[in-house]
Amino acid sequence: MAKTVIYKFGGASVKDADSVRNLAEILRNRLRKNLIIVVSAMGKTTNSLESILALKLEGKDYYENSAILKDYHLRLCRELFPRDHAIFPKLENLFVQLENDLEKVLTPQNYDEFYDRIVSFGELVSTRIVAEFLCLQGLIVLWQDAREVIYTNSDFRFAKIDWTKTRKSCQEKWKPLLENFPILTQGFIGSDPRGRTTTLGREGSDFTAAILATCLDAGSVTIWKDVPGVLNADPKLFLNTKKFDELSYREAAEMTYFGASVIHPKTIKPLANASIPLFVKSFLDPEATGTIIHELAVPHQVPTIVLKKDQVLVSFKVTDFTFIEEKHIHRVYEQLQKLKLRVNMLQLSAISISIVIDTQLFKLDELIAMLRDEFEIRYNEGLELLTILHQRVEEIPPMLEGYEALLEQASRNTFQAVRRKI
Ligand code: ASP
Ligand code: MG
Repeated sequence: MAKTVIYKFGGASVKDADSVRNLAEILRNRLRKNLIIVVSAMGKTTNSLESILALKLEGKDYYENSAILKDYHLRLCRELFPRDHAIFPKLENLFVQLENDLEKVLTPQNYDEFYDRIVSFGELVSTRIVAEFLCLQGLIVLWQDAREVIYTNSDFRFAKIDWTKTRKSCQEKWKPLLENFPILTQGFIGSDPRGRTTTLGREGSDFTAAILATCLDAGSVTIWKDVPGVLNADPKLFLNTKKFDELSYREAAEMTYFGASVIHPKTIKPLANASIPLFVKSFLDPEATGTIIHELAVPHQVPTIVLKKDQVLVSFKVTDFTFIEEKHIHRVYEQLQKLKLRVNMLQLSAISISIVIDTQLFKLDELIAMLRDEFEIRYNEGLELLTILHQRVEEIPPMLEGYEALLEQASRNTFQAVRRKI
């Protein structure tokens, strides 16, 4: 039997009616048994759901935002389906569910769990629409709920995969189905041991594709993007980018580690362990070759720029005239781990520890509360972390023009700076 193939389509590939039509065209000649199509929420739906949650948490009226979100999906469907199509009552139903869920009590304590229940809605509604549209086009796919095979722990918003359970359910539940049909499912979502909805971290649909690939011993994964492949910088931010025809798993992993948003950072490892190639291709030019990420790639020296936004620089200064020792670092890392915060950059001086972390609601306040008795803490918000791999010295000053660099670090292969616009 042919090996399973996984396709992943992100939010941009289903952002409007034309995009959904384009997705159908891509699938027209490629649809086959043993294909899983993983789809994200439409356009910026996840962001919209996050803002609805933020309003709700502040006790503000979110009605208008949820009406806009519903209207966006409805309009898209009106362009794709005849008036009397069954998708309309289905949509109505889904939005009633969302509104009911939104009415429940939300506190900072249950925020993460509440968040997962609400944001997963984006994927559930988007896959319903895409599946129905494909069927209308004579492209028959089976809609499946990813929560029935993707099992996680209860770390809401950053749930960890239970690989054994997930593999078992993929093999038992989906493998037999795939012998007869392609499956269409949601990225990003899973369920915990109590059946509660969890999510895998923002942009986690790529990771879903990798999980399914590993658990079904797939032949390949293709991520369909609005860029021609993996580039050496984000084309939305930088000019003169260059596409990689191939990358090794290691190079790709390194880029995602520093924040390259083209692929979710957790995607590479499971694929590398199972030697499953990952293709990154353009949904605007599906015949073009894109980038292949696999074992064999020849290492390159192309300067590669990665920019990570919404960063906070936090400095912990010892207050008792001692110097920084291992125990201080340990204390800081211990608290970071409790808050599930990852350090994107670390710098030590004689009397202080500086770290750069992602901005996350509540987390900075909590971190400060945990450590303010031991350190004098200062922080700067709204920063960007710039990383250049295989940097050339002459390329660095232009990247910092118009910016103040709060922290800089360089090794032979990597340059990093935390910068702020001046
Ligand atoms: N819809 C989710 C997000 O925007 C997951 C994804 O797109 O991969 O974060
Ligand atoms: Mg998305």
